[in-house]
Amino acid sequence: MIKIIFMFIFFIHSFLAFSAELSLINTREGKKLAFIEKRKDYFITEWDILVEPASKTTESSDKSNSRRFGRWKDGIIPFVVDDSIPNKDRIFQAIDYFHENTKIRLVEKTSQSDYVFFKNNGSSDCSSFIGKKGGKQVIHISDWCEKGSIIHEVLHALGFNHEQSRPDRNKFIKIHWSNIQFKYIFNFFRSPFARSYGEFDMDSIMLYPSFNGFAKNPDKPTMSLRTGETWMAQREKMSEQDLMGLEEFYNPEFE
Ligand SMILES: [Zn+2]
Repeated sequence: MIKIIFMFIFFIHSFLAFSAELSLINTREGKKLAFIEKRKDYFITEWDILVEPASKTTESSDKSNSRRFGRWKDGIIPFVVDDSIPNKDRIFQAIDYFHENTKIRLVEKTSQSDYVFFKNNGSSDCSSFIGKKGGKQVIHISDWCEKGSIIHEVLHALGFNHEQSRPDRNKFIKIHWSNIQFKYIFNFFRSPFARSYGEFDMDSIMLYPSFNGFAKNPDKPTMSLRTGETWMAQREKMSEQDLMGLEEFYNPEFE
């Protein structure tokens, strides 16, 4: 049986090798298997989620996984904005949004050792790790990444995964596998960063649109509700449920 499973994994892997590899990655709940894609000097999954392969983890960051990985203490994120980013205002607008609408606080880094580093790496990526990983962690901000997308990436850093990837998503939505380009299929697997709040939320800023660039036929959806209903994705603001989910996730940290 095990042999068959390995053969199956090898079979899938050989097909996906040009775009993704199967790897153990670090998550808040420990090491989990996921398909990841190598870009430059980093690894990514689900289009914009940065991941750290467990095999490349140093001993010191391994220790951080058990205790410090996950939430930011007291909901405070120290940050640095790199000089590589043009039009820094959009980042400060996103930060203002958190200050006006949530208890999360982003503060300019002084002596803190855990912090986010907003950086433009010359690619078209807007991407972020999920949750605090300990030490310096980048949030890539490309030229096209506007305030709403930056809110989305900061929410990843706060611990949110994509709404369509939540562990219980199959109760609410249908993935149209036959309309997804084969090389992108791994982006539609359920997230190894298990976390969900409330019912499936079509207003979430963490949701991808039904119609997207992963489709074989862009006129047809890659995802719909089980009723067949499709949705647009908004990148304007957090939904009511996003706000409640954040409040719940960070509540123990505000004690
Ligand atoms: Zn995302």
